[in-house]
Amino acid sequence: MTASQRLTDELQSTQRALAALQADYRALVEASADTNADDEHDPEGATIGFERAQLAGAIERLKTRRLELISALDRVAAGSYGRCQSCGSPIGDERLAARPSTTRCVHCA
Ligand SMILES: [Zn+2]
Repeated sequence: MTASQRLTDELQSTQRALAALQADYRALVEASADTNADDEHDPEGATIGFERAQLAGAIERLKTRRLELISALDRVAAGSYGRCQSCGSPIGDERLAARPSTTRCVHCA
């Protein structure tokens, strides 16, 4: 599998996971609007608030991941993919397979 295929695959699964979490998040927001949950006094409201914060955090992480993958694909197109952005050495296939969007070699990471 080429780097670009690997990155595209991972980008697609990130997009799917992101869409699923965003749908969950919307459902949760609608559910809490329906019950008019009060975070401070209603124990169920506090749980919803917590779940919402968890989901929002997971969504942010996936968005960051998506940006990293898109920028890695840009580097593939530019021909600079697989080179450490700190020291300029090759990052190495093994490390790239494990962390396709990494920008640094194992020594500089
Ligand atoms: Zn390096």
